[in-house]
Amino acid sequence: MSSSKPESERLVTLDGSHGEGGGQILRTALTLSLLTGRPFRIVKLRANRDKPGLRPQHLKAVEAAALLGGADLLGAEVGSRDLVFRPGAVAPRDLTIDIGTAGSTGLVLQTLHLPLAMRAETAARVVLTGGTFNPKAPAFPFLDQTWREHLANLGTPIALAMPSAGFYPRGGGRLEAWIEPAKPSPWVRTTRGDLLRIRGVAGAANLREDVVRRLRDRALSRIADEGWNVDVEIEAASWPSPGQGAAISLTAVHAGSAPATFVGLGERGKPAELVADEAVDELLDFLGVPDGAVDPHSADQILLPLALAEGRSVYTVSRVTEHLRTNADTIRAFLPREIEIEEAVSPDQPGRVIVA
Ligand code: ATP
Repeated sequence: MSSSKPESERLVTLDGSHGEGGGQILRTALTLSLLTGRPFRIVKLRANRDKPGLRPQHLKAVEAAALLGGADLLGAEVGSRDLVFRPGAVAPRDLTIDIGTAGSTGLVLQTLHLPLAMRAETAARVVLTGGTFNPKAPAFPFLDQTWREHLANLGTPIALAMPSAGFYPRGGGRLEAWIEPAKPSPWVRTTRGDLLRIRGVAGAANLREDVVRRLRDRALSRIADEGWNVDVEIEAASWPSPGQGAAISLTAVHAGSAPATFVGLGERGKPAELVADEAVDELLDFLGVPDGAVDPHSADQILLPLALAEGRSVYTVSRVTEHLRTNADTIRAFLPREIEIEEAVSPDQPGRVIVA
């Protein structure tokens, strides 16, 4: 006998170790549960990671989503590998969230952004304390230069500020966001325009003065080696922060698409030159696929708003990642959308994402 429950009440069951198997499965599920009203259960949460289960950063995202959506929770504790989330009605509000560790503020903000934007009647303010520069997560310059531009293109504008930077292990950075009420629109971009310029920021907090200069010099000399005929400007920054850290961001600005930002992140014992090399290498990988309109990190992040937009979207990506494939699977579990990912036929050719 088929279930008599309406679609909106049927429990979505997710395997948290599927595909990329990280926190992204949980965050996408939280966003879509709030927006569809469907409860979900996630098992084997981050089962294959070094520290499996919910980490403080993930738990904060769960708690903040529960607050926003009046949700009932089971298994919401650090280390838990099995979580049930049953949302009530979303009641948009301003939020102040202290992650309590150096965990990523950007990832928590990304979880809450669409429920706030799509359910609020007035702008909502979210203030987060934690990490603003984290490995394998969107650092502030990426959010501000790239994610924000994508959101503006999709008709869901957001304003961002970082009054203080947060680095591992001290955390204590601050990310502020103002989210406008909006619904995402579909988006089509299958070519990349001409490279107009490269801009960047080399910054440090409470470190020796030469760090910023070395980050900047290395990036400038590596880019000069490529012989492109474009303006390159890298500004120097000294970030207020309760801790220490350094980073460099490089943003490629092309005609007609959102800028693509790549970040190199310092750590104790890692020479500034290596930090700059990481950002330059990622930039070169992206530029090496001339028709990839969207960078690999944005590719999985914009899939969620596009899956919630009415109408067909198509975009090319410089690289199809496991994050992209896995996010598509999580979205398909909640929404009756056809999402097709065409793999690249060779390393210098783009992949393509179609949301039908
Ligand atoms: P874990 O993998 O340990 O569970 P996690 O919860 O931080 O960690 P992931 O599932 O790996 O999460 O998701 C990371 C998200 O951060 C993805 O959306 C990915 O696109 C994004 N991301 C990773 N690296 C970058 C980067 N350098 N710039 C921008 N975004 C990034």
